[in-house]
Amino acid sequence: MSRFGLYKTARWKRSRLAHLASEPICRYCRQMGIVNDGSLTAAGERQSNPKRCFLVVDHIVPHRGDLTLFWDPGNWQTLCPDHHDIVKQREELRGFSNARGADGWPLDPDHPANR
Ligand SMILES: [Zn+2]
Repeated sequence: MSRFGLYKTARWKRSRLAHLASEPICRYCRQMGIVNDGSLTAAGERQSNPKRCFLVVDHIVPHRGDLTLFWDPGNWQTLCPDHHDIVKQREELRGFSNARGADGWPLDPDHPANR
């Protein structure tokens, strides 16, 4: 199965809904004091584009097809489409995620600290 096929599985659809039920607002908006259930932009204004009114279950450390990273609930975070785009663009430019674990160490195996 391709890495994109994983998103079409019944298991992911179930997991995604369960995650959104436990974390129903964008994590990055919340850190800025904005309660965004998918109806707002990252600036906290009403989202005028109905196609961007949803929430993404994002993988904090990019899974790149790694099944352990893909299915680890601790690696999931809820993001609005704006923040998802921003986070993914930064990761693509850098080639790794800056997400850190509870001990402060970068989680991404591709982070320079882990190479
Ligand atoms: Zn957001």
